[in-house]
Formats: sequence, structure tokens, C-alpha cells
Amino acid sequence: MKFAPRSAFDSASGYRLLPMRFRRLPWDETQVLVTSLAGDWLVMPRSDLDRAVAGELQQDDVLFASMEARHLILADPARSTLAPLLSQYRTRKAYLQAGPALHIFVVSLRCHHTCSYCQVSRRPTSETTFDMSGAAGRHAVERLFEWPSDKLTVEFQGGEPLLHFDRIRSLTEAIVERNRSEGRSLRFVIASTLHDLTDDQLAFMREHRFQLSTSLDGPEWLHNANRPRPERDSYRRTIEGIEHGRRALGEDAVSALTTLTARSLTAPREIIDEYRKQGLHSIFLRPLSPYGFARKTQARQGYPITEFLTFYSMALDHILSVNQDGFELEEAYASLLLSQLLTPFSHGYVDLRSPTGAGLGTVVYDYDGQVYPSDEARMLAAMGAHSFAMGRVDEPVAQWLQSPAMQRVLAAGVAEALPTCADCAYVPLCGADPIDHYARQGDPIGHRPTSDFCAKQMGLFDLLLQRWQDGSAADRAVFETWALRQSGGSPAAVPEAPGLEVAA
Ligand code: SF4
Repeated sequence: MKFAPRSAFDSASGYRLLPMRFRRLPWDETQVLVTSLAGDWLVMPRSDLDRAVAGELQQDDVLFASMEARHLILADPARSTLAPLLSQYRTRKAYLQAGPALHIFVVSLRCHHTCSYCQVSRRPTSETTFDMSGAAGRHAVERLFEWPSDKLTVEFQGGEPLLHFDRIRSLTEAIVERNRSEGRSLRFVIASTLHDLTDDQLAFMREHRFQLSTSLDGPEWLHNANRPRPERDSYRRTIEGIEHGRRALGEDAVSALTTLTARSLTAPREIIDEYRKQGLHSIFLRPLSPYGFARKTQARQGYPITEFLTFYSMALDHILSVNQDGFELEEAYASLLLSQLLTPFSHGYVDLRSPTGAGLGTVVYDYDGQVYPSDEARMLAAMGAHSFAMGRVDEPVAQWLQSPAMQRVLAAGVAEALPTCADCAYVPLCGADPIDHYARQGDPIGHRPTSDFCAKQMGLFDLLLQRWQDGSAADRAVFETWALRQSGGSPAAVPEAPGLEVAA
């Protein structure tokens, strides 16, 4: 819920309310989370919020100073300004200024796996008509440099992109050559099973400082069940690929994430322990997406979002205990949410932005020359829903931005203006994901009370806030480390965390 500022209202103590939203804490309904326009927050007794709203706070109340510091009240409307609040708002939304930084090149749809939860419409390894052509690649490189961002991340995806490594090589060389006059900061990533890595490929990657991202779903029995191959050797080949990549590119150049099937939900500790065993210091616990083969197998592989949240809570407990044991391991999505809760900075994650990151933070150049505002949009197109295609690689970027697809994305892409989100205490920290809502609910705006996206966001924010409140000092220190690493900040750069609970 939110309170509008009363422009003509001054309390007896001379303060004015600023726009705020609140949420009764599900685990303690006497307490409320109160958030400002820019995402500063306080947890306080509901009775204190009532006093503040009724204009009954006194200047020497501790709560008065806390609410003023978090831009929830304006202490002296005659002399105070909104400049600090607006400055923080700009910082929180800083990702808007540079334009898309993540550019995904889909070099082939071919793949040798038959994963039942595959989000893309993979093709057999022999079907080379699903490879990106040289002409499409050249146009895509031209378009890449029409965007204004100083920092460009170029991510090669598939299918299995290593099956069309010649195109990765030619695109990389063309981008590096063009960048001699552009002077952008470039980062290259390949999302791959890593099964087909060769020394020759790795030498090229080392030259251009590539990073590798792969999927590791857990211990051998789980990984092989989730990611089947006829030879039942998927796990072994993935581990060999990780080691091969590390030897050539360095320990930190290889990262992994896990996709959670119904089978995975039975094994939270085993999945975490596998990451520790492999010396991986980050894990991304991703629930299934409603795209591609995952939709077809949903009845067998899927689960209600409540089961994901139960799993996540157990996994988080185990990750925290692993950290207390001395092995640093972060959960990547928690880090993103904590960076929003505990720092004033913006983050680079496109699915958690408002305005949406689709087309404003990411662009996808598909193998056939079509261009999409997000990976999910191209997956929808592969399923026959083409309404989120922005255009083709031989058309100018300005034309893509004026396309009906982008108009549709933008109309539903500002969380603060969406039904339910507009009144939600978490909205300054949350994001809009119109394409996900279209995929799940058939409408880009969607219906938050029945939305899995919202249930996940609300559930995870609640979980992390509760752990932050009730956890040990050691757990809090782990959370702070994750948040600061994610936001690129340092303790010295954060003089005061934006949130603070006030004791009842
Ligand atoms: S998606 Fe849900 S949690 Fe996020 S702002 Fe909207 S209502 Fe709140």
C-alpha cells in the first residue's frame, strides 16, 4: 500500500510525508516494511507507522531521524529539498543511461543434448541450416556498434555454440577490428555445455579473454537425468570441460548455473555440495522457464512455485552453513536481490529492471537474422509467437526501437505503473518482466496475484529480509559480501545501508 504526499500538510512537528509503500511482514504482522520512492527501507512496528502518518512524531524521536534519513519524511518542508531522494533514484536507475550492454549472438540452434527442459528449440547436429550465416553476422556487428554503451558484453549462445565455432571466431575478429576505432570496453562470453572444447578453440578464447558459462545441475545422477545423452556421459563431459576451460583460461573464467527440475527439488544439499566439490564459488538456482521443450514437459518436470520456495529456503540455509565452514559460495539471484536491499546501487541484471531490461538492457541477434529484445522473446518466436520480434539485422536500430514489439514491451515494462506492483513495498527493488508474463499468462501486463514471477519475487524478498533480520552476525556478513560484490561496491562506498530495522 502507499501513502500519497499531502502537499499542504505539515504535521504538528513540521514534517511532511514523502511517497512510501508498506507491507505487513508475513512472519510478524505487528511489524511493517516501509519503503521510499528510491528503495530505502525500514522495518518498524505498525503502531509507529500509524503515528508517523498521523503527524505525531516528534523531532527528537529516534524514528523521526531514521525516517528522514531514508527519505520517508521531509523534516522541514520550507527548507528541505528533494535533491537527495532524486539523486538516489537516479543512482538506482543508472542502468537506463547507457543503453543495452548485453548482446547475445545465437550462432547455431544445433545441439547434441536432448534436455527435456530445454528452453530453446534445439536442432539435430546435422541440420546446418540452423547456423548463423556470414551475412547475418556482419549486419549484427554493424548494429552492435550503433548502440551507445561504453561497455559491451558479447555472449555467444545456441543450441550448442561450439558446434559453429567458425562463426564465433569470425564475429569476434570483426568486433575486435571494428573496436579499434570505437574504443569500447569488450567482454566475450560463451554459454556452452563445454563438451566439445578443443585446444585450438581455447587458444583463441585466451587471446580474447573469453569467459565460459555452463550448466551443472548437481551430482552425477541428477545431471545425467536432467541433461541426457545416449552415452549417459553428460556429467563426466561437463566436469572435464570445466577443468579443461580452467586450465586454459584461469580458475575464475568458468562459471556454472543449475536449472531445477522437480527431481532437483529433492536434493538441495547435494546440489550445493556438488558445487563445493567442484570448487565453484557461485551457484544460480534457476526454476524452470515456460519456454521451448520445458513447456512440453511441464507436467512431468514442473512444480508449483511454492515448492521452489521451500527448496530455495533449504538450499540457502545450506549455502550459509557452507560459508560458515570457510568455503565462499554465493547464490547469484540472492546476491542480486540483496544488492537491491542493502546497497543504493543499480545492478546489471536485465530481468530485474524497471523499466524492463528487454531491448533496453539486452538485444538478441538470432541465427536467422531476426532481432529480439530478450532471449525469452526469441524462445517465444521459436514456439510460434512472433509478436516480440523487433526487426531484422539489416534494419537500423532506430527502426527496432519504434517497432510494435518494443512499444508493446515498453507499455507493460514499468513496474511502478503496473496493477498490484504500483502499491507493493518491494517495487523500488523489483522489476517488470512483460515477456515472461506474456509467456505464462498470455498478457504482457499480467495478473500479479496469480503470477509465478511475482510469487517468486515476493517469496525471495521476504525470505532474505527475514534472514537478514533474524540471522546471525556471520550470516549478515555473508549477505553483505554478496550484495557488495554484485553491485560492484565496497564497504567504503556504502556509508550507510539503505535499510535498517527499528526495534519494536
Ligand atoms: S512483481 Fe510482485 S513483488 Fe515485484 S513489485 Fe510487483 S507485486 Fe511486488
